[in-house]
Amino acid sequence: MSDLDTIVALATAPGEAALGIVRLSGPRTNEVMAALLHPTRALVPRTATFAQFRHPATGGLLDEGVVTVYARPHSYTGEDLAEISAHGNPIVLAAIVEACLACDARKSSSEFQIRPAQPGEFTLRAYLNGKLTLDQAEAVADLIVAKTDLAARAALDQLCGRLGNEVHALQTGLVQLMTHLEASLDFPDDELEPWTLSEQLAAGLVTLEHLNTLRASYDHGRLLRDGLHVVIAGRPNVGKSSLLNALLRRDRAIVTPMPGTTRDTLEEWTNLRGVPVRLTDTAGLRAASDEVERLGLDRARAAINAADLVLLVLDGSQPLSEEDEGLLQTADPMRTIIAVNKCDLPRAGDSSLIPHPSSLIEISALTGLGLDQLETAIAKRAVGPTAPGHEVTITRLRHKEALDRAAEALTLTLQALEDGLPADVATIPLRDCLHALGEITGEKLVEQALHAIFSEFCIGK
Ligand code: GDP
Repeated sequence: MSDLDTIVALATAPGEAALGIVRLSGPRTNEVMAALLHPTRALVPRTATFAQFRHPATGGLLDEGVVTVYARPHSYTGEDLAEISAHGNPIVLAAIVEACLACDARKSSSEFQIRPAQPGEFTLRAYLNGKLTLDQAEAVADLIVAKTDLAARAALDQLCGRLGNEVHALQTGLVQLMTHLEASLDFPDDELEPWTLSEQLAAGLVTLEHLNTLRASYDHGRLLRDGLHVVIAGRPNVGKSSLLNALLRRDRAIVTPMPGTTRDTLEEWTNLRGVPVRLTDTAGLRAASDEVERLGLDRARAAINAADLVLLVLDGSQPLSEEDEGLLQTADPMRTIIAVNKCDLPRAGDSSLIPHPSSLIEISALTGLGLDQLETAIAKRAVGPTAPGHEVTITRLRHKEALDRAAEALTLTLQALEDGLPADVATIPLRDCLHALGEITGEKLVEQALHAIFSEFCIGK
């Protein structure tokens, strides 16, 4: 396998659709096009051309459609690239991929193969050929799997280079500081006037503050990418499954008047005010009556412990039971919203007497009363009291960890300066800081880390 192989893959989702796209990239792309298209013709780059596709060995008709070729370096990968747009039938598309691969067996002056693409290999080539920085390549993967408009916008911002620009601004500030520190060492008499200690510290602190703002955006950004994990908990029959269905706006969970129907955890994604939310309905929390119920309860407790947010459901038409009180006592107020359900029915008591500092919202999963308020409260947990403006948001742990290391190293530099240590001691962590930032855009990255990043892509990207 060589990086100069020509790679082929289905670029669209598998399954039936109006159209499907097969993508090829590499030096033998034009050779494949010449063998596949009927009649053979010269293709003009970036111009859609209608043609029949025929098997290069048998001449059998595979489909007809539109081909667009891109001449290197003006393509997504930076290599010669072709997109074959055919009818979106999995059998037809598989036959086209096979026909492209069959060109490998034909006599060619090239020593390089035509082979199926590895996951993420098109985007890896785009990165290696300098068409995308590493954070932009990651944004391609994030954009494709984004579950809400906010998540898609964050990925698109990153793809358009907004994170890269921020990193660049940080690097510029640090390089300036480094230059002044080194100038004081190497060229004491040079015309570049070294900064005073307070100027050095001020410059470092401005950059540290900028770094910290970016790091803090991960609290929200993580949720955009990974989703807010919300667990619906409560004793049996309070309306947990009804609430899950109401939030999903469809009947996903079985709702019955019999307690203990949900014996396992149920999980679904939904979009609440632009925040991707992973909703889990759990088995009703009570003393288990059999082994299956006990296992369900273990899962429910594990889900509650792992949740970003717990919706603790109470039945407002019933007095608080011992089980309810137990749940209220053990709930973590920072991660809990209490939903007093069935408020369409006459009240059994005064919910304002519930002894808990968590937010409390009265709802009816049956009529929809209060659900709007509940959705707003859930979304607020994800984005804070006000939705974030259009500033850059870190969505990946890899970026957050690089920023953490950068901040740590910069703090060491500032400490060294404050302690009056020589400038060359202060520049050592400053270099580490610059390296850590470079990892975000991929300026300094080891091969192994690259493989880990691109292996999460699917084939065809
Ligand atoms: P779970 O065991 O906590 O999941 O509870 P379910 O969602 O299965 O609901 C138990 C019973 O309460 C069912 O008969 C529901 O129709 C009923 N129920 C759920 N939510 C409400 C509500 O807001 N108002 C009324 N009146 N009944 C509800």
